[in-house]
Amino acid sequence: MPIEFESPKPIVQTQFVLKTVAEEMMRPKSRYFDEHEHEIPWDYMEFMHTASKALGAGSLTPKNEGGNGHEGAEQKEKRPPIGYQVLASQIEMLSWGDAGMYLITPGGGLGAAAVQAAGTPEQRAKFLARFAGEKPTVAAMCMTEAGAGSDTSAIRARAVLDEKTNEWVINGEKIFVTSGDKAFTNYEKLGKGFIVVWASIDPSAGRAGMRAFVVESGTPGVQVSKLEHKLGIRVSDTASISLVDARVPFENILGSPTVEKSTTGFKGAMATFDATRPLVAASGIGVARAALEFLKEKLAENGVQIRYGLPRQKLTSIERDVIDMEIMLKSAWLMTIKAVWMADNKKPNALESSMSKVKAGDVGTKITQKVVEILGPLGYSREFLAEKWFRDAKITDIYEGTGQINRLVVARQILGYSGSELR
Ligand SMILES: Cc1cc2nc3c(=O)[nH]c(=O)nc-3n(C[C@H](O)[C@H](O)[C@H](O)COP(=O)(O)OP(=O)(O)OC[C@H]3O[C@@H](n4cnc5c(N)ncnc54)[C@H](O)[C@@H]3O)c2cc1C
Repeated sequence: MPIEFESPKPIVQTQFVLKTVAEEMMRPKSRYFDEHEHEIPWDYMEFMHTASKALGAGSLTPKNEGGNGHEGAEQKEKRPPIGYQVLASQIEMLSWGDAGMYLITPGGGLGAAAVQAAGTPEQRAKFLARFAGEKPTVAAMCMTEAGAGSDTSAIRARAVLDEKTNEWVINGEKIFVTSGDKAFTNYEKLGKGFIVVWASIDPSAGRAGMRAFVVESGTPGVQVSKLEHKLGIRVSDTASISLVDARVPFENILGSPTVEKSTTGFKGAMATFDATRPLVAASGIGVARAALEFLKEKLAENGVQIRYGLPRQKLTSIERDVIDMEIMLKSAWLMTIKAVWMADNKKPNALESSMSKVKAGDVGTKITQKVVEILGPLGYSREFLAEKWFRDAKITDIYEGTGQINRLVVARQILGYSGSELR
């Protein structure tokens, strides 16, 4: 099969539209929402919801069923699926605009990704339809707890079946939930969202006992107890959520309600991350590209052009730095595109998914730091967004598995070790 490096038409088209959104709606507000941490950019959220509905999409979720989801039924058979590739390109472009605002784009986020990965067809139909509803709607995923971030086997949240009422009773304290507030709190301007809470149905079974539960917005006993103040992506809320005897219907469990002697339940979470880690990578790449392009603009304004044709020893050190950063950026993007291509084609991509995130986490951090460094005081000043991109980029290397944890995943995949053999 020939390798094509041309982006498919749906990608080029959405890139064009989203670049305008990034330039007109995101960049001008970037500084304001960075400095007004918990304010909500309703204009952006409502615009993006209306726009994605007009395009026939419910949210930033892949349209993969039977085609690429961006064309008529008669064409569906002819083209390979590109849902995740479209999504990665959209996220890259929106994050080029503002990574924090991208995170609050209405839609299912990690919560919907968990339903998509671990839910039954009925659950997908029930819980995912709302993202195409009247109002912008948000979902979130609650896995991390104090003492259980990288080591998810330490999760203490507990779900017990009340056989009289056929409801799960969930208790636990979750922290660092992206969009947890918008997913759970009943804001008038938002549709009814949900959070996906990971809890154990059998602590003695370790990871095999882990299950995810859809907890609807407004469920009694559930409370957003704190909003984090953060280094970067400040417009995106990061919530602590406490659950005290929270009751959810039996059918809101994602996966089997009984514990088998396997880690099937936990594999649901990992399947979610295989799909979403390259998307985190795409976001980090968008931030890095913003910083690098800005640097090149500033250099050009000062008469510095990058002389690509010259041998390396004849280049200035700034020219070499810029070219090295462009190489880093392109290689991270190629890894990301490979990982989402595999997801689209239903090929196991745990290795490529983690690799792309490790690479983008490194590259995003290095490029934004170098840009601040080369710009000197202008890079450090709040007059420009370079310092903000430096702060925003770091999260790529932290959430959905830190750089270290994803390196472990890569090593396990290559060397054939299990999680318990290499930790
Ligand atoms: C802004 C933000 C948003 C987030 N959003 C979500 C969300 O929506 N849902 C959710 O569930 N969680 C979310 N998280 C949590 C995030 O996924 C965790 O913070 C992350 O997985 C790290 O876990 P931890 O905080 O417990 O750190 P720890 O696991 O305590 O790690 C601390 C350091 O030790 C390193 N480390 C740990 N174990 C190893 C090891 N075996 N080998 C080598 N190094 C190791 C880590 O890489 C890290 O550098 C978010 C976090 C942030 C900051």
